[in-house]
Amino acid sequence: MENCLFCIIVKGEVPSEKVYEDDKVLAFKDINPATPIHVLVIPKKHYENVLDVKEEDKEIIADIFQAINKIAEKLGVEKDGFRIISNCGKDAGQEVMHLHFHFLAGGKMGPKII
Ligand code: AMP
Ligand code: ZN
Repeated sequence: MENCLFCIIVKGEVPSEKVYEDDKVLAFKDINPATPIHVLVIPKKHYENVLDVKEEDKEIIADIFQAINKIAEKLGVEKDGFRIISNCGKDAGQEVMHLHFHFLAGGKMGPKII
């Protein structure tokens, strides 16, 4: 989608620090990390957010979670753990309207996610 930052990153027209890539999924470091390891995992195809993933698109979620498995192993955090967050819409403060999952790791996190 034109004018979508993450679509532009997928095209390689804005640089990103890639952590993982396959034909459907891209993961890159968040520019403003909230934790020592903060990666954004996105589908290469544009979806606005979770609500935009319809029945016919549901496999992309499995693809993303398979990628997350590989990323956890690649970054060596599969034993210590990590947190996955997807902000959806206004109340969650979604800033970039391209479906993404925050992969947070690298130290003990607080007990709450709000
Ligand atoms: P959200 O608030 O869930 O929409 O998260 C958007 C995330 O994208 C934020 O954590 C930003 O720091 C991150 N972000 C924005 N621009 C870039 C960029 N060019 N490269 C990497 N991460 C970015
Ligand atoms: Zn997009």
